Amino acid sequence: MAEERLDAIVVGAGPAGITAAKTLAEAGLAAVVLERGQYPGAKNVWGGILYREPTEQFAPGFEEEAPLERPIIEQRYMLLTEDAAMSATYRSEQLATPPYNSYTVMRSTFDQWYASKAEEAGAEVYPEFTVTDLLWEDGAVVGVTTGDEEGELLAKVVVLADGANSLLAQRAGLHDEWQPIEQALVAKEIIALPAEKIEDRFNLPAGKGTALEIFGESTWGMLGYGFIYTNKESISIGTGALLQDLIDSGRNVNDMLDRFKRHPAIAPLLDGGETVEYAAHLIPEGGYKRMPRLFTDGAVVVGDAAGFVNPLNREGVNLAMLSGKLAAQAIIEANERDDFSVAALSRYRELLDESVIMKDLFTIRNVTDFAHARPHLLQDYPNLLSDVARTYLTVDGRTQAEKQRAIMRTLWSVPKRQLLDDAIGAFKALAR
Ligand SMILES: Cc1cc2nc3c(=O)[nH]c(=O)nc-3n(C[C@H](O)[C@H](O)[C@H](O)COP(=O)(O)OP(=O)(O)OC[C@H]3O[C@@H](n4cnc5c(N)ncnc54)[C@H](O)[C@@H]3O)c2cc1C
Repeated sequence: MAEERLDAIVVGAGPAGITAAKTLAEAGLAAVVLERGQYPGAKNVWGGILYREPTEQFAPGFEEEAPLERPIIEQRYMLLTEDAAMSATYRSEQLATPPYNSYTVMRSTFDQWYASKAEEAGAEVYPEFTVTDLLWEDGAVVGVTTGDEEGELLAKVVVLADGANSLLAQRAGLHDEWQPIEQALVAKEIIALPAEKIEDRFNLPAGKGTALEIFGESTWGMLGYGFIYTNKESISIGTGALLQDLIDSGRNVNDMLDRFKRHPAIAPLLDGGETVEYAAHLIPEGGYKRMPRLFTDGAVVVGDAAGFVNPLNREGVNLAMLSGKLAAQAIIEANERDDFSVAALSRYRELLDESVIMKDLFTIRNVTDFAHARPHLLQDYPNLLSDVARTYLTVDGRTQAEKQRAIMRTLWSVPKRQLLDDAIGAFKALAR
């Protein structure tokens, strides 16, 4: 075993690991990042929305330098039934002028750029190193191994930033395998289209982008959603649902994505495009109630590996970056006392509790259970709304009063107790 002991080893060069390494290096600590991919971002999958304000905190001036696709100037929501679509759009001049709220980004280029910022700060990033296990001494994590003796590396502390399916957090005894109710499975494609076609089809000014989140038939009515985000010369399209629902229904995400792409309201947006990339990935959605332990002697867990995702606002990367920074701050303090015990690293939890991560995850802690217990929300209600809209819009000789009575009959077909229960449940799920 190598005897040289680094200050910190970071496993995973995603946004969580790179932010941790960059913060540690800026404080003068020797931090090494090990990444299994050919380069940072090579194995990373996401929808594509990067929020500007949090990113600016971790990478000041990134808008000038980083590889960005399009600033997002509007948000669209759609509700699909088998043959219909209802939508709402929020577009404003504020979103459409700098400073922008968010950008679409390709992880394969963005992660490489972001890793270069950690290297500039003094961290070392080594791609093509897969960590297979942790090294232990007297019950504390003291390093990692890539499977052979020459691949053993020692450090005062190990940062587990290995993403959604963190085997190392399990190895560290921080959590068991995630349960199907605690994760969503998403399939995603990148579809190449010329910039002018994207701008025409989505009614966008040159160079600007849109984000669509699509509920109902996009997931066969399961808990989850479909999305479409516009890149410079491609569209990211994906759909995903809770793994538990996929298992229970016997359906798979590939079929779900194919079906979503063929929907009459979606297909014209993709027409003539060529699929240039396909991927499927897990998102940890256990949230506050199913959060793993976040540290042990000699190790902390950050980002997706810790389950820091807010699915309501598709926040993942910003929470990963923030948790990486807070873990690094706790490590810097631990290093000053040369104490990397559970007691010293519990400072990480204190910093998290004061941050937007824990505050928001606490606020939305009941949302998944609420929605999962009510499959009719995304199955029956879209059909109901579609029936109402069709009745209202159809001119067929019925008087206005007759149509209004038909609409009321449709609405009253929903059991009152169910409506009340859904309304109270939704309020409770979102109230602190
Ligand atoms: C389809 C989809 C859409 C999403 N859309 C958005 C969005 O629009 N906006 C947003 O903010 N978030 C989004 N997210 C969530 C976001 O991608 C994650 O929250 C974020 O990437 C977490 O960062 P991370 O650094 O914790 O993990 P990751 O980005 O997953 O990075 C983990 C890294 O660890 C490496 N690794 C894993 N195991 C090992 C090992 N044993 N040894 C060495 N290296 C290892 C991996 O190769 C990877 O590079 C989306 C996620 C998915 C799946």
